[in-house]
Amino acid sequence: MGACLSPADDSDVSGRRTSAPLFFHPYVKGSQIVMDESHSIASRVATFCNGLVFSNRPVEPYEKVTLKISKEDGKWHGGLRVGFTWEDPSLWEPRELPPFACPNLVNQGKTRACVLPDEYCEEGTIVSYWVDNQGCVFCSINGEPEDILLLDGVLVTSPLWAVMDIYGRTKEVQLLDPSNLPTNNNVHSPLLLAHDDQIESNRHDSHSLLEGPTGDECAVCFGHKANTMMLPCSHANFCACCSLKILKTSGCCPLCRTKVKKILHVSGSAEREGMEDQSDNAKDIQPLR
Ligand SMILES: [Zn+2]
Ligand SMILES: [Zn+2]
Repeated sequence: MGACLSPADDSDVSGRRTSAPLFFHPYVKGSQIVMDESHSIASRVATFCNGLVFSNRPVEPYEKVTLKISKEDGKWHGGLRVGFTWEDPSLWEPRELPPFACPNLVNQGKTRACVLPDEYCEEGTIVSYWVDNQGCVFCSINGEPEDILLLDGVLVTSPLWAVMDIYGRTKEVQLLDPSNLPTNNNVHSPLLLAHDDQIESNRHDSHSLLEGPTGDECAVCFGHKANTMMLPCSHANFCACCSLKILKTSGCCPLCRTKVKKILHVSGSAEREGMEDQSDNAKDIQPLR
């Protein structure tokens, strides 16, 4: 396991080099968590909660935290939660950690975290997530090129530690070195095949619109660049943060009132980043029993 986290392999999506390998924090962890010797595999022993883990060091904006969901416990609903905290976990007394990231730790005010959609929590799935310099958190699944917007509001002016809640259906996760993973730009993972028709039609529908109104100011905040496109209506007048707020509130495009199914993140270089509707996942999901 330690070989997966060689310091020589540390790089992030912005191409910068980072100094130290990333592990789970060795002693600040939920009461149900056990780890391997290298602190790169964390398992929840029993029940569905008390599975909080943190990174051993702060992570930089754009530095990917990459996890493999290595074991499931199918008797629960809802799985892994991910996010960032700007409170140094080393300062916490492990016995006083709350049982859940969402909502308990988030409600303490110095953590942002959210539920990963169920389809991204299947055993064997590789999840990478990172925060951008605006405090928006994105993830990618199994090396796919789509970057899915998960949440915003991370305080990027402060050191940030990765937070993972090994909750419910997710029983064990393994930290991986993202630079050792194969890129998957041409191969559809089994995970995404389930949505193949929709994804392909979205790609085709959006392609001709990539050069559309993006580049203008966001029609909501007038402070950020409009860099997203709502689907199926194809309105592209909002920034990533405002799109996320729209999804979590009305769920409808403000211009045409169409129910938003998916949002593509369209950068100036026509790079597309898919953001799926997270509105149903904002709530804490209760276990089956
Ligand atoms: Zn905006
Ligand atoms: Zn619209």
